[in-house]
Amino acid sequence: MARWITQFMPFRYVAHHIKGKDNTFSDYLSRYPVDAEVKVHPPATPPPCDSLNILHRTGHLRILKDFPDIFIDFDASQMSDPELEPIIKSLRDGSNAHPNYILKRNRLYRVLNNGQHRAVVPSALVDTIIRYYHFSKFGSHWGTQRTFQHIRKYFFWKNMHRSIQSQIRGCEVCQKTKSDRTKPQGHLSSSLDTRVGQTLYLDTTGPLPPSMGYRHILIAVDGFSRFTILVPLTTVTSKSIMNALNTHVFRHYGYWERIVTDNATSFSSHKFTSFIHSTGSRHTFLIPYYPNPNLAERQIQNLKTALRAKCHDDHSKWAHDLYLTQLSLNSAFNESTKFSPVELFFGRPLNTPLNLVWDIPSEQLHLPTTWQTAIANIDAAHKRHAAVYNKRHVNVQYSVGDKVLLKTYIISDKQKGITKKLSPKYWGPFQIVKKISDVSYLLQNCEDATIHRTAHVSQLKIFRTNRK
Ligand SMILES: [Zn+2]
Repeated sequence: MARWITQFMPFRYVAHHIKGKDNTFSDYLSRYPVDAEVKVHPPATPPPCDSLNILHRTGHLRILKDFPDIFIDFDASQMSDPELEPIIKSLRDGSNAHPNYILKRNRLYRVLNNGQHRAVVPSALVDTIIRYYHFSKFGSHWGTQRTFQHIRKYFFWKNMHRSIQSQIRGCEVCQKTKSDRTKPQGHLSSSLDTRVGQTLYLDTTGPLPPSMGYRHILIAVDGFSRFTILVPLTTVTSKSIMNALNTHVFRHYGYWERIVTDNATSFSSHKFTSFIHSTGSRHTFLIPYYPNPNLAERQIQNLKTALRAKCHDDHSKWAHDLYLTQLSLNSAFNESTKFSPVELFFGRPLNTPLNLVWDIPSEQLHLPTTWQTAIANIDAAHKRHAAVYNKRHVNVQYSVGDKVLLKTYIISDKQKGITKKLSPKYWGPFQIVKKISDVSYLLQNCEDATIHRTAHVSQLKIFRTNRK
């Protein structure tokens, strides 16, 4: 009750009694509002009516409403920034003291080595941008590199990479939902895609806890660009997959030269193979237990990371805004190609609500050059993967007093709506209270000192906090 009183304190209210039988929402209301949809964030400045209405109508307010700073005037904020103001003034005076900056329509841009311009972010808005690109549904809690690569297409500020890295290192959701280090995925095939539309990798994931009636997701990945299409499915059958491909994939993007699937019955049935044949594609099956470059499977790992971050508090939410998860996967920087899937697929980064509201232009790409660079990048990544394949994990030691997270072992429970795939991978933080042996430690929970655990070193990872 105390926490409710503190929640209500800032408001003026009159208490009314509602009879139990009339109060059908009681169960819902009795829950603590951990869901972002329920949180109340009064905007720092009153938002302009027009933009709010547009955002309401398009539904994107749900992403933007956690970012009241987005309604702050970008240019005015540049002008009031103590570091940027002198640069703007000297540019207006016509002095040549800052050749790396330029003023366009009263807005300060940084001139990059390649001649392109990026809007310079005033320090007051740095935090908002990082949160928008990392913590929102649009950001899906991607790692430092991906978040950085995404932001730098639109914005510039000094020590960008470092400030993004330190924010993300301290992100509690990331630390609890991500594995410490991903293992090399195995040998890569020698036949690499060199253009969009060559190979389409298909896979399904599920069953997941029911969400809006769906239990599964069909994942279709273009082999070259890694452009990914997600379709929620109620059941996984040859027929449901064929329908999904027609209405969500082929209808918009045409047909691929080759379709790659595993041997699951829904893909290997006569019905499905003849359907693929009728589209003019070749159908290739992946050999089980052989290190194959199944890009759909790899994109499933990314998808799971995104879904875990999105529904760690409520597993039945995964199907909500699945289009945003797809957008997020496709806008994310890819380690192998060094471009985002949309850039290789469409030849441009996609506009986002944020860059439209602020009228921030995105990076210009020259598609043929971009593709050539991507092909070279894929080739280099392929060689790198092969080189690190046999590398072992390093031996980690912890000291008494270190804060760590402990790996969870959650078993799926359909009745409770808990699914292992979407649960946090770690819990804590714990403090190391004693070293038992070279590889085991005694831990005490930092929030509840009565909880103790003994743990093997492989179950632990260091817990970092954001120092502000
Ligand atoms: Zn995060």
